[in-house]
Amino acid sequence: MECIFCKIANGEIPSATLYEDNDFRVILDVNPASKGHTLILPKKHADNLYELPDETASKALVLAKSMASKIERALECDGLNLVQNNGETAGQTVFHFHMHIIPRYKNDNVKLGWKPGKLSDAMREELLSILK
Ligand code: AMP
Ligand code: ZN
Repeated sequence: MECIFCKIANGEIPSATLYEDNDFRVILDVNPASKGHTLILPKKHADNLYELPDETASKALVLAKSMASKIERALECDGLNLVQNNGETAGQTVFHFHMHIIPRYKNDNVKLGWKPGKLSDAMREELLSILK
């Protein structure tokens, strides 16, 4: 399979590894948004969140929590974003599930924002009828 994150996660391609266990490898992003930008990669391939087994999903968040705490303590960042993209439209470029840990610093150049809209009554009712 020609998936670069499968190869990295399983050690076929070297990476700057911060942590590894049977299920995951945690690496430094090669094109970091900020100092300490880290990626959590499951070793078993899943294209995205929808395909991720529940057990891996649970473990991924627990691991993200411990890595985020370690990064926050060690780098003394002012904040931190946990980001996970699904689909090209959402910014996914590598189609092997991963989570970004992006440390934030006052006056950094990271842009993750959106312009807040307004939930109309009609839209609220439509969404409740579809999604609830
Ligand atoms: P996404 O846009 O959510 O799919 O994120 C993919 C991330 O993987 C980007 O932040 C890239 O900089 C990062 N990336 C791509 N190739 C590598 C690699 N070989 N080693 C480490 N990070 C990588
Ligand atoms: Zn893969």
